Amino acid sequence: MAQDESPSGSTRLDRQPWDDDARFRAVVQQIVDHAIMMLDTEGRIRTWNVGAERIFGYPPEEALGMPFQRLFTAQARAERAPEGELERAAAEGRCEDERWQPRKDGTLFFASGSVVPIRSDDGGLSGYTKILRDGTAQRRLQDELAEAGERLRYAQEISRTGTFEWHLETNRETWTEGMYRLYQIPSGTVIATYADWLQRVHPDDRQRVEAAFAEGIAYHQPVVVDFRIAVPEGERWVSCRCQPRYDHGRPVALAGTQIDITERKRAQFALERANRDLNQFAYVASHDLQEPLRMVRSYLGLLKRGYGDKLEARAGEFIDLAIDGAERMQRMIASLLELATVESGGLAKATCEVRHAVAEALDNLGAAVDPVNATIVVGELPIVEADCGQLVRVFQNLIGNALKYRRDDVPPRVAVSAERGEREWILAVADNGMGIEHEHRERIFDLFHRLHSSAVIPGSGLGLSICRKIVELHHGRIWVEDNPGGGSVFKFTIPADSGPPDSGQPD
Ligand code: ADP
Repeated sequence: MAQDESPSGSTRLDRQPWDDDARFRAVVQQIVDHAIMMLDTEGRIRTWNVGAERIFGYPPEEALGMPFQRLFTAQARAERAPEGELERAAAEGRCEDERWQPRKDGTLFFASGSVVPIRSDDGGLSGYTKILRDGTAQRRLQDELAEAGERLRYAQEISRTGTFEWHLETNRETWTEGMYRLYQIPSGTVIATYADWLQRVHPDDRQRVEAAFAEGIAYHQPVVVDFRIAVPEGERWVSCRCQPRYDHGRPVALAGTQIDITERKRAQFALERANRDLNQFAYVASHDLQEPLRMVRSYLGLLKRGYGDKLEARAGEFIDLAIDGAERMQRMIASLLELATVESGGLAKATCEVRHAVAEALDNLGAAVDPVNATIVVGELPIVEADCGQLVRVFQNLIGNALKYRRDDVPPRVAVSAERGEREWILAVADNGMGIEHEHRERIFDLFHRLHSSAVIPGSGLGLSICRKIVELHHGRIWVEDNPGGGSVFKFTIPADSGPPDSGQPD
């Protein structure tokens, strides 16, 4: 400003400051983005520049002589904020202030500025200079930022997530509050480096986590990895999703989120345990039931052979029905045992020519194929990484069903084919048989779910369950579609992730 500045920052003038020379007034007058005014010792407005008029909306003729208290809200006036400002400026040489203030039309803006006392040569107070600007836009931005930060903090708290950034060049870590909460470390404790963090990862998981990070960085891929972390109460599971960042192709950071998945992991382990137990039970039960059932079946046979002619006709009929029931039960138990064995036996994966698996399945079905005079068409089939024996089982079940559920009015025709998907082979067994209503398409893969009575078409209702189990163990899917020419097409996938894309083409 044009005046002399005293060491305390106050302005020294001999005459009344607002009577000062025209040049100074002209300069101040032109400033439009700041409201600049001089006040007398009572707080009455004595000068009023263009900026003040623009910001507050009062023309000079209205503002001049007006108590500056009018520039404050009723609440601020009630709290004596205007007087407090002047008193502090007089006592301390300056008073900074930020607050919502009303314009002439009553709307509020966020004023940010200061008041400085004006002193005469003898040190007496002769008035004040007040400068402020409209900081509404900036304030709104700050509020929004603070709100967004608060929302993020809250979201991270309820979802038990944290966000981190690992700066690769300095090896430093930046953590949000959520991360500290996740690791149960008092906020403010410094987790400065990647090494500090790695110390908290379970020793058995460290190598796997580091390998996942290295792979993501090397191949520019997002990383998803689950691992255990050490916390004061023991250990917890977290799932980390992150993404490498690059600067001109050079990796500079790995940033992402971590979320607590301890409960989910516990439930998963409990489910896996329950599944194992159930499978063990199914195995033991079906295995041990076979023997007594065989006994029932053979004694019924003996009864029929030895005494059949001595019994009443109705008794003979009952024995036949009992034998039939025992046989059905034997078939079901054998299938159940087969299912349990698939589950517990795991997979013996090898390079497997699908056409060989189909040929073996047809061989095993021999007796079922021949009498129905079926046409079996086998297309070009790939080579896959799979358990060949299990693949034979799948084809045997699907082709067997295709023949079993044939229509009486057309000779059965079964086509086995393959089609390459993006990351998998889609193998298909199509028939021209009875077809399957849409509403049963999911449930036929469930245990014991049959659409036909055993008296009409025999079966255990487990064949498709066994197929689904085998396919899922191979990380594939199985489903059924309509065959456009009538009948059904059962399709299943086998991942084709090993070897180049066309490695599976038959020669
Ligand atoms: P099962 O053949 O021993 O009854 P599955 O689990 O193999 O048991 O099949 C379940 C049910 O799905 C069968 O009972 C049958 O109703 C239906 N189904 C299976 N395959 C076919 C097919 N190719 N065409 C029509 N229906 C089928």
